[in-house]
Amino acid sequence: MGSSCDFCNRENFSERIFYETDLFYWVLGRKPIRPGHTLVIVKRHIQAFDELSGLESSALIFDMRQWLPKLLKTYSATGYNLAANYSLVAGQTIPHFHMHIVPRGQNESGQEDSVRARLYRDAPEVERPRLEPKSIQEQIAKLTKVD
Ligand SMILES: [Zn+2]
Repeated sequence: MGSSCDFCNRENFSERIFYETDLFYWVLGRKPIRPGHTLVIVKRHIQAFDELSGLESSALIFDMRQWLPKLLKTYSATGYNLAANYSLVAGQTIPHFHMHIVPRGQNESGQEDSVRARLYRDAPEVERPRLEPKSIQEQIAKLTKVD
């Protein structure tokens, strides 16, 4: 797809990458739904989860096993949402496969619907502040030193 795809252009999110392999970028969300909202973006231009190769599928799960506990620890979360939307009807706005990871906090009841609404695009857009450069750097520093 090349230049017209937001996720094929690394420079669109390079300052928010906190982990990178040959196959994936791990990126802080530009407008996080909750602190630590992360996008896992496959490097190859494919649109759907089921287009992942065997190697990409394995690497995604392997990397998640490493990073989910780190995200929980970094953001003092006790749970998370994982989501991948495929096609416009499911709320996929950028047709390049990516997973959302949203850490959920101890003070949440689990009944809040805004995370669900934002992940699945079934509610009107709510104004959320963009992540500031200073915050990006602080969070990446935290994430890359957590063990
Ligand atoms: Zn792409």
